Amino acid sequence: MHTQKELARYTINNAIKLGKLKRLPCEVCGNPKSEAHHPNYSKPFKIKWVCKLHHVGLHSKEHEAQREIGRQAALKRWGKKID
Ligand SMILES: [Zn+2]
Ligand SMILES: [Zn+2]
Repeated sequence: MHTQKELARYTINNAIKLGKLKRLPCEVCGNPKSEAHHPNYSKPFKIKWVCKLHHVGLHSKEHEAQREIGRQAALKRWGKKID
């Protein structure tokens, strides 16, 4: 049983093996040890290349995107600096 996520990852790994897709360095920091990130698992070829560090960052960003909007608004209201 494959999840959509596993299937998307498999599709990319397979395409690389077959020479149909080229692994690119991390688009944030240029690290050649990159992984494919799928913004949308139903579109297996729509990927971003990111290193492990920035990959994790992307996921936590996506996961917290909605909550973050509310948090930033709240912090702004209280006049606090973010980051
Ligand atoms: Zn990176
Ligand atoms: Zn990812």
